[in-house]
Amino acid sequence: METAIAAEGGKTVDARPVKAFGTEAATAPLNQLNIQRRKPTPHDVEIEILFCGVCHSDLHTARNEWHGTVYPCVPGHEIVGRIVSVGNHVKKFKVGDIGAVGCMVDSCRECDYCQEGLEQYCEVGNTLTYNSPDKFLGGHTFGGYSESITVDENFVLKVPENLDLAATAPLLCAGITTYSPLKHWKVGPGQKVGVVGIGGLGHMGVKFAKAMGAEVIVFTTSPSKVEDAKRLGADDVVLSKDAAQMQRYAGKLHFVLDCVSASHDINEYLSQLRVDGTLALVGAPEHPLPVAAFSLIPQRKSFAGSTIGSIAETQEMLDFCGKHNIVSDIEMINIQHINQAYERLVKGDVKYRFVIDMASLKNS
Ligand code: NAP
Ligand code: ZN
Ligand code: ZN
Repeated sequence: METAIAAEGGKTVDARPVKAFGTEAATAPLNQLNIQRRKPTPHDVEIEILFCGVCHSDLHTARNEWHGTVYPCVPGHEIVGRIVSVGNHVKKFKVGDIGAVGCMVDSCRECDYCQEGLEQYCEVGNTLTYNSPDKFLGGHTFGGYSESITVDENFVLKVPENLDLAATAPLLCAGITTYSPLKHWKVGPGQKVGVVGIGGLGHMGVKFAKAMGAEVIVFTTSPSKVEDAKRLGADDVVLSKDAAQMQRYAGKLHFVLDCVSASHDINEYLSQLRVDGTLALVGAPEHPLPVAAFSLIPQRKSFAGSTIGSIAETQEMLDFCGKHNIVSDIEMINIQHINQAYERLVKGDVKYRFVIDMASLKNS
């Protein structure tokens, strides 16, 4: 059944209902629901979603931990799928191709940052894959826990042919979010780099920092991840709850990438930095993280942040993964197990990314 929907701009766009999984309220479990997807406009591709990674941001948003969620909320921004139809101006893809979508599906394309190829920092505000105003259909955008998604071809990425598709999905958020700051702060040979919190983001941070040539030190709260971290590429692992172990690299690290999803003492990690070192936060806990002045002042340290990466950089990251044969370590689930997966995510109990086999949505 097709519906013609008039969006705010007055344009009429054809849409059709598709199956999705989402939630109606912060405290409600995720369930099957129907959403509308637009039929491709001239620059769009329609993607049948094959795999979707489960990012901790999905959980923060579904549960309104960042206080801006519009319901119903359909999360999912680590999307790999097959292109099933294309608009008549599409150049980059044809029907049958594989395409991937991350956290952004559009931006203003005109502000200074968009012009510089930094559309993740769009001044006007980019359109996120879910929970952003939908320019075409009105309402808000819905993410990848769904049968299909329609996206402007400029925001769709190509997947190198040698990569496993399910294990590639997490690269679209966990991958780019860790790759971008490691590149920005020029991590490479001769540097000691700390990665804190070995979940979806952290385990990719370890793989990338190692592939970029750094000596990698993992900081984890989980004894069960010590051996794994070495397999992922860590040169050493520090159990962060052990005060004596936390002294081992104090004042020695050039850069720290903090990927922790919950409240923790940031000062303990600033103390690992050497003079002029930077701690970049990519983890986005619900509550503020207090920073002591004397964690930064005596050794001219920087406390920074970073969000995802641009579309061009995301393609660069995927190509880097193709070249170095890097994908995520995943645990595949059916969509019907998403609520249990969220409970495990809160406990840090995943090695290292849940990926939903979206074929399972057909059975619900
Ligand atoms: P995740 O898979 O759940 O991993 C988070 C890790 O943090 C856990 O595996 C655990 O690692 C550690 N951790 C959890 N609770 C902790 C606690 N109470 N104290 C200390 N450590 C704890 O999450 P993710 O998907 O990687 O996402 C991580 C964070 O990044 C989330 O807040 C997410 O929203 C954010 N994020 C930001 C961006 C961005 O653009 N900046 C993009 C994507 C995600 P150990 O077991 O090793 O301690
Ligand atoms: Zn994410
Ligand atoms: Zn812009």
